[in-house]
Amino acid sequence: MKKIVIASNNPGKLHEFSHLLKPLGIQVLPQSAFGVVEAEEPYQTFIENALVKARHASKCTGLPALADDSGICVDALNGEPGVYSARYAGEPKSDERNNQKLIEQLRTQHDHSAHYYCIIVLVRYVGDPQPLITDGNWYGRVILEPRGTGGFGYDPYFYLPDLDKTAAELSMEHKNLISHRGKALVRLVKCMREGTLGDIREYSE
Ligand code: IMP
Repeated sequence: MKKIVIASNNPGKLHEFSHLLKPLGIQVLPQSAFGVVEAEEPYQTFIENALVKARHASKCTGLPALADDSGICVDALNGEPGVYSARYAGEPKSDERNNQKLIEQLRTQHDHSAHYYCIIVLVRYVGDPQPLITDGNWYGRVILEPRGTGGFGYDPYFYLPDLDKTAAELSMEHKNLISHRGKALVRLVKCMREGTLGDIREYSE
């Protein structure tokens, strides 16, 4: 089994990545298994933050490394909270306070269009000049009253007009099929299978 380290300690992400990469003969290990502490994410773009996280995990473990970065971007707020989604209302990070801040910002706005964005980066080694990069968008709009109990983060306020549901009203399976992260993940697996951006053998230990 080939090994890849994931630059996250989130059990949900580990499960999702493992599930999709196992059929390719790849075992996904969390960076915590190697005692790697989280990298700083000081940049203004998702791609830069994902790259720095993947490089850090690869540097500390000597293994190929995967990282993702994601957030919600609201049109009327010029793409905010964007890369600051997790800590939109400051430290310590709190989904409840983030959502309250977002709702307050939008009360006086007419346009509530928004999308989730996710980018995934895979580096074969720390100095990899050709990282494998895929991404995904998920379009909807922010509502001012929460609906649903599933998901996490901004999901109870992220409304999908086609489904007449918020992301928090979807089952986890349904969300994974259509979400920003789900799309980026499926694209990653496709690229790895096809060797579009490097042969699968290059990702082995
Ligand atoms: P990270 O990429 O895990 O650091 O996530 C960044 C932040 O974006 C999260 O803490 C959430 O606030 C938000 N976010 C990203 N993806 C989702 C999602 O699928 N649902 C709800 N919030 C999300």
